[in-house]
Amino acid sequence: MNTIARGARGLRWSILLAVLALVTNVAAQQPGDLIIRNGLIVTAVGRTEGDLRIRNATIAEIGRNLTAASGARVIDAKRMLVLPGGVDPHVHLTPTRTPTTLKGADDYTSGSRAALAGGKTTISNFITQTATTNLQTTLAEATELVRKQAIADVILHVTASDPNGFTASDVATLADRGFTLKIFLVRPAFDQNAAGFVKLIRAAGAAGLLTMLHCEDASLVTTTQERMMAEGRGALKGQNFAESRPVVAEEIATERAVGISEATGAPIYIVHISSERAMRAAEAGQARGLPVFTEVRFLYLHLTRERFDEPDGAIYTGDPPLREKRDADYLWRALARGTVNVVDTDHVGYTREDKLDPSLDIINHRPAGNYLQVQLPLLYSEGVRKGRITLERMVALTSTNPAKLFGLYPRKGTIAVGSDADVVIWDPNLKRTIRDEDQLANAKFSIFSGWEVTGWPIVTIRRGEVVYEGGKILAAAGSGQLAPRQHWQRP
Ligand SMILES: [Zn+2]
Repeated sequence: MNTIARGARGLRWSILLAVLALVTNVAAQQPGDLIIRNGLIVTAVGRTEGDLRIRNATIAEIGRNLTAASGARVIDAKRMLVLPGGVDPHVHLTPTRTPTTLKGADDYTSGSRAALAGGKTTISNFITQTATTNLQTTLAEATELVRKQAIADVILHVTASDPNGFTASDVATLADRGFTLKIFLVRPAFDQNAAGFVKLIRAAGAAGLLTMLHCEDASLVTTTQERMMAEGRGALKGQNFAESRPVVAEEIATERAVGISEATGAPIYIVHISSERAMRAAEAGQARGLPVFTEVRFLYLHLTRERFDEPDGAIYTGDPPLREKRDADYLWRALARGTVNVVDTDHVGYTREDKLDPSLDIINHRPAGNYLQVQLPLLYSEGVRKGRITLERMVALTSTNPAKLFGLYPRKGTIAVGSDADVVIWDPNLKRTIRDEDQLANAKFSIFSGWEVTGWPIVTIRRGEVVYEGGKILAAAGSGQLAPRQHWQRP
């Protein structure tokens, strides 16, 4: 980033803050201050004991012994951690579910509930641009659903199924309005239109858009699936699913994505890396200084492919599949050294019945599942408490880095004066066993039920409003918003 761009961005930010201040000043009946006392405030770069003053939806002051005016609410956070709200850029929701488009049971409201109870204040969704609808209409409809349903704040990504569906002005519109593109190398359409997709990724990069890429090679995955189906190994039983999506397919697609970034100069964000070999391919691009950013779906840190041998092993399906223990170990180390930029969920609100539907097979399956509520506690419990990553790294991976990459920082992703008051009060010693009956998402079950986890959010504050406390969601659908976004930044 050059100095002029940085200056322009800073200026834009100041204007934005000035406008915000104006708007909030004229709004009548602002609630009183909220003061969070004596917590350990943690950001990506350090920790300090102190108080926060929250006023008009933003963090107004950080210090010690802040005075509480009459009418202020004070929360005692002694022995608690005070973290910036989690930002999950990989969440799939279905705000207009119909019986024929079964894509998970969560809309923005139920997805928000699970997220807020799990310490995440910003979630995402993917919307699809179709040939029959113009882009402005697609974006307007999606924005309206967020406005009606969300409790958490939301960012949106547009899936590009056909690169010819996006004109230069469409790309500019996405950049101006703060959307991101997502492209699937794993779909045969990618190989059929590869040159078109490369042009689109280049155009997106030039317009200041980050492009998310699902990296599995379509030709290897589809031919492996077809061969296994022909051999009678199509059922979601035993190791069939894992074998149907081999590591090499992920590795070479990741190499190809890195190559596209190198050839076009475009920034890319590789979603849900699952294996050592794919991670090494991404790291090789990073080592060459390319704008290659990486995400690990949390499942790969906690589970390995032996899970598929369980009687209900189909419950663990996801693309790519669970891998070996050595892959999980490698990803944990990559988290610690910072080559992994983001850890998130790839949440889809599938019910147990959706996942175990006997009509499914290795081709026609339902990847991912209900994860929003448990991901951060699992990362804290298994990562921070076990000494694999620091608290600051956890904050970077789950809040600051995604906020930077998706154009939300410094409004979100940190605890700083002037930032949105998206704050989580976290009890580092609270021990709880994950249970189906505690799940707030519509799927009402967790593959982690029975796991004992230490460290949970006890209060979640979204833009200054206490939205989760005492195990309950306190805010209504429609209080979340489409988060304004700016140019992406390097983590
Ligand atoms: Zn996904």
